[in-house]
Amino acid sequence: MGSDKLDSDRLGTLDPFGHRKAMIPAEVNGLWKKRREWSQAVLILIFLLLPWTKINGVQTILLDIPARKFQLFGATFWAHDAPLVFFILLIGCIGLAFATAIWGRVWCGWACPQTVFIDGLFRRVEIWIEGNHLKRRALLAAPMSFDKFFKKTFKWIVYFILCSILAHSFIAYFVGADALIKMMQNNPNENLTYFTLVASITALLVFNFGWFREQFCIIMCPYGRIQSVLMDQNSMAVLYDEKRGEPRKNPAVSQEKQGDCISCNKCVQVCPTGIDIRKGIQLECIACTACIDACNDIMKKVDRPPNLIRYSSESGVFGKIKSLRSMMYLAIIAIASLILIYQLSTRTVYRATILRGQGLPYSLTKNEKDEDIVVNHFKLHLKNQGYEVLKFNISLALEESQFNPDLIELTAPINDIELQSGEDMTLHFFIKAKPQVTTGIGSRNAELNLKILKGSEVLTSKLNLQLTGPK
Ligand code: SF4
Ligand code: SF4
Repeated sequence: MGSDKLDSDRLGTLDPFGHRKAMIPAEVNGLWKKRREWSQAVLILIFLLLPWTKINGVQTILLDIPARKFQLFGATFWAHDAPLVFFILLIGCIGLAFATAIWGRVWCGWACPQTVFIDGLFRRVEIWIEGNHLKRRALLAAPMSFDKFFKKTFKWIVYFILCSILAHSFIAYFVGADALIKMMQNNPNENLTYFTLVASITALLVFNFGWFREQFCIIMCPYGRIQSVLMDQNSMAVLYDEKRGEPRKNPAVSQEKQGDCISCNKCVQVCPTGIDIRKGIQLECIACTACIDACNDIMKKVDRPPNLIRYSSESGVFGKIKSLRSMMYLAIIAIASLILIYQLSTRTVYRATILRGQGLPYSLTKNEKDEDIVVNHFKLHLKNQGYEVLKFNISLALEESQFNPDLIELTAPINDIELQSGEDMTLHFFIKAKPQVTTGIGSRNAELNLKILKGSEVLTSKLNLQLTGPK
């Protein structure tokens, strides 16, 4: 009894002494397995190919942290676009919470890189080199021999090659695929930082996908820890139908009273986290559906209806979007999406900001004709947020009813500015005016004409300046 209690309290991945047990789940075939194989293949392809695709001539996803430039599906965001990125992240996080509330751990079982890469790549390599689960278990228990040494070495070499490819693909999201190719053709010493980064990521992936595996889901993943908060009795989960299955096959139970579970333990043998789903919803369950397929296979053999283990919920009802919690998640997603769409649609290809020069608001000086003039100092910060080269030209936009053009002029070191995509610059310029322009008023508004050339397109923008002078 005491040992039973300990067994039920212990993680399925640990032995009675607290040591890790190697998890070698049995192979499984079935409808869910096929569906997951397809989705894993598609997700792996997306991950590997996305850095090589372009939208609007730029990489589909590029997170250039040193340049604080983030390209997402044809739109480029800069550090000052943090509010937009905030809304994108908010939609992603609340979307995941919404999906969890409705479909439970669908992310873990179907889309998490940990599950996708282990099931879709590394376990396949293991089976290819070492054989099925029985052969792998026997190989693990066998003393070292040439055959064991060869298979283990070969397996880890293949793991290393796969992890190296994954690490390079991962880095391409941050440095750009084209830059990555150039770096790979050069001597590692020329890009020592990235070389070290790729080597470290490769080592980490080999450790994780080759050895750490299910422990990440069970003891490290923060998303796994907050499942119980996000899910309720209506959330979808992989569940054992206790009413139908119990009392399970047992010498103490007569055949007439016996439920559909024949105690074959196949559902436990195929579980990658080593749990017994018949004990109910458990934190370790990553909803991989392996036990559904395994049990359906057994039900077919014993001529019982399928789905003794199936997708269900504690209440028996799932997929209900009309709960208060789901509606609140949807409302937040809708509001954040509307704000994001508005901000994206009002975004310009350039950004222009005018600030006053530091120090005094104005200075009094003399011009070349020894006449008194008031000098206002401004800073114009221009940023090209688009993909094309932009040319800027600044001039004063004067209405003659307000200003006599002979009394006021703009001087700047350069008037024609050319900015490459993503480039920015600060231009200091001065508005020199005869005192009568501002005297007695204290301040007066003037307008700056900003002419922008985008290819053959001409955009014009007016920026407001507040001139200051002696009262
Ligand atoms: S696979 Fe099905 S029949 Fe076999 S032990 Fe699990 S629940 Fe019972
Ligand atoms: S209990 Fe079933 S669904 Fe959950 S992790 Fe184990 S095999 Fe996968």
